[in-house]
Amino acid sequence: MGMKVVFVGPPGAGKGTQAELIVKKYNLLHLSTGDMLRAARDAKTPVGLKAEEYMSAGKLVPDDVIIAIIKERISQPDSDRGFLFDGFPRTVVQAEELDKALAAQGTKLDVVLELQVPEEILFTRLAARGRADDKPEVIRQRLVSYREQTEPLIGYYQKAGILKSVDGTGTIEEGFARVSAVLDACQES
Ligand code: ADP
Repeated sequence: MGMKVVFVGPPGAGKGTQAELIVKKYNLLHLSTGDMLRAARDAKTPVGLKAEEYMSAGKLVPDDVIIAIIKERISQPDSDRGFLFDGFPRTVVQAEELDKALAAQGTKLDVVLELQVPEEILFTRLAARGRADDKPEVIRQRLVSYREQTEPLIGYYQKAGILKSVDGTGTIEEGFARVSAVLDACQES
């Protein structure tokens, strides 16, 4: 069975960009709840329409919606090859539910990568990107949601002994080299 990796970090830390490179190099499934929600929104499914209200305000989508989407996804047989969660879990409740769902399958997470980037840099990167939720007031709310609801995950995974923090500043190549070093070490152990 392949590695099971969670990627945590504030919006703008470069999770999506690094995730694409990692899944290629380590042959993992890329599971991005942000991408799943945007696809559901564009397809105008009931879940997508509900999620859009939260996304456009920079708020987190309710845990029960996210947990249902993820449980359905990891129950599919292709997740045996290993996966990278990008943008999930985003709350301690989501992390607890993920641990339970994996335990029920007789497995667990191998490593949680935290991508660290100072807030001034995040704001500049997001404002330059121009996605629908990259307007200044929405960016501010997304950073608040991160600090209040997602940052507590760092302590949760630190306690579990699987947290690895990586410097996410500098170029994409520099970030990728740092992240790869952590995953190579994890694969060997
Ligand atoms: P970013 O990391 O740049 O904020 P994402 O694409 O991961 O972007 O997420 C975009 C939006 O989708 C979030 O602001 C939030 O509204 C919603 N979202 C994505 N993943 C989750 C999650 N695990 N829990 C709650 N909301 C989520």
